Amino acid sequence: MLDVLIVGGGPVGLFLGCLLAQRGLSFQVLERRTATSSHSRAVGLHPPALELFERVGAAQAAVQAGVPVRSGVLRGPGGVVGELDFAGVSPRYPFVLVLPQHDTEKLLEARLSELAPHSLRRSVVVQSLTQTNERVTVRALEGEAETTLQARFVVGADGRRSLIRSLLGVAFRGRTYPDTYLMGDFPDTTAYGSRAVLQLDSGGIVESFPLPGQRRRWVAYTPSLRLTASAADLSTLLAERTGLHVPAQECSMLSAFETRRHAAQTMLRGRAVLIGDAAHEVSPIGGQGMNLGWLDAAALAPLLEQAVQGQPFDTRPLEQFSAARLRSARRAARQAEINMWLGRPLTPLLVPAREALMRAALRPISAPKLADVFTMRWSLPAS
Ligand SMILES: Cc1cc2nc3c(=O)[nH]c(=O)nc-3n(C[C@H](O)[C@H](O)[C@H](O)COP(=O)(O)OP(=O)(O)OC[C@H]3O[C@@H](n4cnc5c(N)ncnc54)[C@H](O)[C@@H]3O)c2cc1C
Repeated sequence: MLDVLIVGGGPVGLFLGCLLAQRGLSFQVLERRTATSSHSRAVGLHPPALELFERVGAAQAAVQAGVPVRSGVLRGPGGVVGELDFAGVSPRYPFVLVLPQHDTEKLLEARLSELAPHSLRRSVVVQSLTQTNERVTVRALEGEAETTLQARFVVGADGRRSLIRSLLGVAFRGRTYPDTYLMGDFPDTTAYGSRAVLQLDSGGIVESFPLPGQRRRWVAYTPSLRLTASAADLSTLLAERTGLHVPAQECSMLSAFETRRHAAQTMLRGRAVLIGDAAHEVSPIGGQGMNLGWLDAAALAPLLEQAVQGQPFDTRPLEQFSAARLRSARRAARQAEINMWLGRPLTPLLVPAREALMRAALRPISAPKLADVFTMRWSLPAS
């Protein structure tokens, strides 16, 4: 019998695997995909996450592969409104690191295979779960073959449509926001360099972030979900709002997405724990979801170590974990709501008022606090 079974080898499950390997627990990560997803969702790694990556020896490789964004520029129709500097947010990582999610997952997978070779089992689709006071039994399909695994604990890191959450009967309450976006990756033809740029326009916000390889990600507010939009449509929209031209024919990723907020009613049921998007979903605007999941994993790893050693199983530390992590997720969700609110369309008459508000927030007295908020400084757990 294993100590822990982790269902889901996305960024959060892989990172928890690294942490458990370092603590000497026996575990396996069960992942249905044959390889890392090529769809790039998250790009932002915040300083608290980089500090956690240090614990598993993955920070240096991440920093080498990514682009450190040391400041964010806010622009309005009339030009630059202000700049937010991240210099004071962390002594070692005074930046938000931009690294596409599939590269981050590859990096974590490589580190996991060094720390615990063969602990990641791909092409394993978990189908059911039962538990007693002593153990959890998971049944899965590995290719055509049925397989049964037992562990003292199971962790559902299986994403927002979590099967583990459904099997546990845990409700996932929340809502879909009216805000939708179109995003795409293009060669960087701007002079922005390694800065993030937020362009506030009466038609809605346009955000852009530098990517490795001299490319840039553009994210534009859209009045409705533009699932059939082309790269040329995004290029036209960007030109209208920013006056900049991105080469549509060289688009390497295009995706339209909607925004949601959901939270599990609890992250603990018996010997099963939910983490990452399986436990909470926040709007991607502000780039916090994956980072929140890593913070869950970092808070959970020492508790799992204690729990596998302790007899009888004391549920209180894990109950406290669940309450604290759901509080953190609520805070991140509120933050994302403010970010979305700031980027919504406005009648042109009100644009100057929004700019004045932002100018006030970017004054030297309030800017450091704002930088802390945008880099998730508030979120680092004690252990
Ligand atoms: C457009 C967009 C931009 C984003 N940008 C950011 C950002 O900049 N920063 C940030 O922090 N977050 C961002 N996010 C959020 C981030 O992508 C998610 O929070 C993150 O992927 C959650 O990781 P996870 O490991 O919890 O879940 P997932 O990434 O969903 O991984 C779950 C894994 O479980 C596997 N799985 C599911 N069911 C089973 C099963 N039955 N058996 C076996 N395996 C299973 C899946 O194949 C998958 O690999 C963004 C999201 C979107 C949509």
